[in-house]
Amino acid sequence: MLLKQAPAVIVQVKDHGDSDKIVTLYTLDEGKISAIAKGAKRSKKRFVNKLELFSLLNVSYAPGRTTSLARLDQAELITNYPSLHQNYGQYVAASLLCELVLFWTREHDREDELFQLLTWALEGLAMGVTSAQLIIFFHVKMLEILGFRPLLNGCGNCGTLAPQAAPYRFSPMRNGLICGQCEHAPSGPGLEVSMQTIQLLRKVQELDICKLPRLHFSKAAILESIALLKRYDSHLLQRELQSWNYLQQLL
Ligand SMILES: [Zn+2]
Repeated sequence: MLLKQAPAVIVQVKDHGDSDKIVTLYTLDEGKISAIAKGAKRSKKRFVNKLELFSLLNVSYAPGRTTSLARLDQAELITNYPSLHQNYGQYVAASLLCELVLFWTREHDREDELFQLLTWALEGLAMGVTSAQLIIFFHVKMLEILGFRPLLNGCGNCGTLAPQAAPYRFSPMRNGLICGQCEHAPSGPGLEVSMQTIQLLRKVQELDICKLPRLHFSKAAILESIALLKRYDSHLLQRELQSWNYLQQLL
């Protein structure tokens, strides 16, 4: 059978029976795929120390004929980002990146930009860039790429973005903001967001990723942004991502 080859990041690993592993890969050429690595738990040669979470690999695989499960043939390790496995905070942040890619993407949906964004973020974390801020950058840019940009230009009802209309609340159901003058039920499901946080998140939406490290989020802006993105995830994905809670405990 013809083998396909692609650079890939491991975003999930599961044991399968006594000797196999099933890995979920985010590949450059095909987006997310699942593949079985036969004998990976026993073989000392082919896959040893390669099939770990976060690893960046060049993989060869045979697409599944009757199922969506491919068969992993070879894996050549480019890097396993050792520091992400040694530092708990970095491990939690990298796990969240993987969970986001795992649950926000569909199989065989190619997004070159998302692959680049994922490796950019893993590399940044491995080099010790502040985890929470990097997560915010990644998440906002991922939503842009996948076409789920939240509308932060102003109140979804009256269009204003001004201190007089504060407090603003973010509502995932509206996919955007509602100002204090239009919101008649302040105890509703929206999440209060400060003007400062709104402006910072808009800058993240607009800037190229190479310019993002210039932005500085205060502690309060980090907490608000993370609460907003977590709420957006749980609304649109209809599930809670485990790593959000671990990350919030670290803040
Ligand atoms: Zn309004």
